[in-house]
Formats: sequence, C-alpha cells, structure tokens
Amino acid sequence: MTLGGPEPAAVVVRTVISRVTDPAPPGMPTTGPLVDRFGRVVRKLRISLTDRCNFRCVYCMPEGDIPWIPTGEILTFAEIERVVRIVAGMGVEKIRLTGGEPLLRPGVEELVARLVRVPGIRSVSMTTNGFFLREKAGALKAAGLSGINISLDSLDRDRFRQLTRRDELDRVLEGIAAAASAGLEPVKINAVVMRGINDGEIEAFLRWVREQPIQLTLRFIEFMPLDGSNVWTRDLVYTAEEILQQAQRIAPVVPLNNDPADPARLYRFADGRGTFGIIASVSQPFCASCDRIRLTADGKIRNCLFAVEEFDLRELLRGGAGDEAVAAAIRRAVWVKWAGHLINQKGFVKPQRAMYAIGG
Ligand code: SAM
Ligand code: SF4
Repeated sequence: MTLGGPEPAAVVVRTVISRVTDPAPPGMPTTGPLVDRFGRVVRKLRISLTDRCNFRCVYCMPEGDIPWIPTGEILTFAEIERVVRIVAGMGVEKIRLTGGEPLLRPGVEELVARLVRVPGIRSVSMTTNGFFLREKAGALKAAGLSGINISLDSLDRDRFRQLTRRDELDRVLEGIAAAASAGLEPVKINAVVMRGINDGEIEAFLRWVREQPIQLTLRFIEFMPLDGSNVWTRDLVYTAEEILQQAQRIAPVVPLNNDPADPARLYRFADGRGTFGIIASVSQPFCASCDRIRLTADGKIRNCLFAVEEFDLRELLRGGAGDEAVAAAIRRAVWVKWAGHLINQKGFVKPQRAMYAIGG
C-alpha cells in the first residue's frame, strides 16, 4: 500500500458574512424549522470545540507544523451556548461536541452542563479519541452527556501507532472501559477503514466487539477526502460492500431497520451476538436524508462536510447582532445547502479545511 496519488483540486474556502440588512432569498421561510431548498430539516448541530488535537491521525491531520486557529478566534462557551439556544428555537434537538479533540478544551464538562439545560435540546453527545476519558468520563456523565463515540482504528499496537502517529492504544482502551463504567451510553466505536492499512482487521474488530462484556456498537467509516496530508485516493476507500463481506465470514448478517437520518447503516449478527454499522459516505452517500450542520471552532456554519463555503457567525456574535439577526444568518446558510456532495463526480473539489478543522 502506498499513500498518495492524483489529488482532487483544493480551493480556498469562501466565507460568507451575512449583513443584518440582507434580504431573505426568495422562497426561504423566515420562521419555523430550519429548512433547505430541498425540504430537508436540520435537527442536529455538530460543534467543534477546538481544531487542536493530541493525535495526528493520517486520515485527518498533517504531520508537521499546523497553523492552529488563534485562541482569540475560538468561540467562548457563552457564544456557543447562545448559538445553541438560537438553533434550538428553530427545531435543532441534538448536539454533538467534537473537534479536533474536544476533551482538550478546559472545562468541557461545564459546557455540557450548560447545553443540556437549553430548552428544546434532547441530547448532548461527544466524539472523542478517548485519550482523556480515563479521567473525564465520570464528570462528563455527571454533567449530562448522553452518549459517546470513541475513535479506534486498530487493536494492534503498531498499526494503531501508524494510524494515529501516537503510541496510545492502551490508554484509549482504558478510556473505552471508563466510559462504559461511567454509564456514558451508548458507547460507539468509530473505525475509519483504509485499504491496505487496517482493512485486514475488520473481522478481528468484530470478533472483539462480540466478546466484550459491555454493549459496544462498532461503526466502520469509509475514508473520506478530508485529510490534511492529501493522501486520499479512491483506491484507499475500503467500501461498505467489502466490509459487509468480511462481516459475513463470522456469521450471517441481518440489516436492521434504519433511521434514515442516521449516517450509519446498521446490521446485527443473526446469532444475536453484536450489532455494527457502516458509514458509507463515499460509496453510498446519504445526503438526501442529511439533517445536520456544523459549527466550526472559529464560529463558521458549514452546511455540509464537503462545503467550500462557510457562513460567519462570529462576526455577528461579537458585533452586537441580536438573536434574530444571528438566526437569519443561520437560516440563509442552511437554505443554500446543496443537494449532495460531489465526491463521485468529475470536478469534485476537496474542501480546504481538513476534518480536524471542520469538526467531524
Ligand atoms: N478527535 C475526535 C475523534 O477522533 O474522535 C473527534 C474529531 S474527529 C475529526 C471525528 C471523527 O472523524 C473521528 O471518528 C474520525 O475517525 C473521523 N475522521 C477524521 N478524518 C476522516 C476522514 N478523512 N474520513 C473519514 N472519517 C474521518
Ligand atoms: Fe485528532 Fe480525531 Fe483527527 Fe485523530 S481523527 S487527528 S484524534 S481530530
């Protein structure tokens, strides 16, 4: 396996700043749920708390010096809470905190406690690399966190180190155990599969989950062109179909009734021992049922992971705009969301920001 190859072109992201006086685009509702031109309603907001991370996963981050977002440009907890109140007033119900590594943000449990109290918010969950969970799981549970996704791409120490560029497999496994014993359910394990690197481990991963005394849902994720080192090529994408074939070597697999808004297609083993999911963003895109948007750590709304346009809220939040103006800017950002990403089409343009800076 070699990393690298012909690359999709990268573009500089265009930042849109809404002025309070901007007229609403024709057809865009100015009240009611947050809806786009194709009728999709936004129910989920993913919030990146920082672009910084203590790991350097090859599918996400570059290795060398990284131009981090300056601290003063990162949204404060008060600013984040305000945005959450505003979107909750427009029908957003679920919040996921991510990054970068969200647990690097000091006092994150305090933010969780504030967000769970926002009227209309039904759940606040988190995606983390698991490194700090050994110490933080209890406090997160006490703050009201209602679920956790932990990234773990290999159970083999050398491969884990190759993928994350850190020798911390044991520490992450301890984090998973800590999350389970703190009762942070559901605990989901996210594994990005890269052909030639960890695709040979799918069966072993599934067997491991089946043997765990705790209920874990393992979700395999197709490698997406959102890496910071420009290593993505289509050849490196190990597809959902190939993953399923490996799973079926263990025992017959039965599809579960899927929530169309869940990016993971879920399956269970017919012998009753274990469920797993596949997030097939590349080979089987689920854009038509997408119900989420993202807020970057520096206060930009991204209406799609692959968007090449961002909508600046920070300037409004720090410039004295009222809640109605902020809400109107969010509505505009959602309204113009495109029908779907273009990874599988000629002319696909890779977003300038990589996953760690978007908030995966
Ligand atoms: N640091 C935390 C973690 O690793 O879980 C949260 C942020 S990370 C960007 C969120 C999720 O994005 C992780 O599950 C990670 O595996 C996934 N991810 C990052 N880059 C990816 C890529 N190029 N393709 C698919 N998934 C990716
Ligand atoms: Fe860090 Fe998560 Fe990206 Fe890995 S995937 S480098 S843990 S932000």
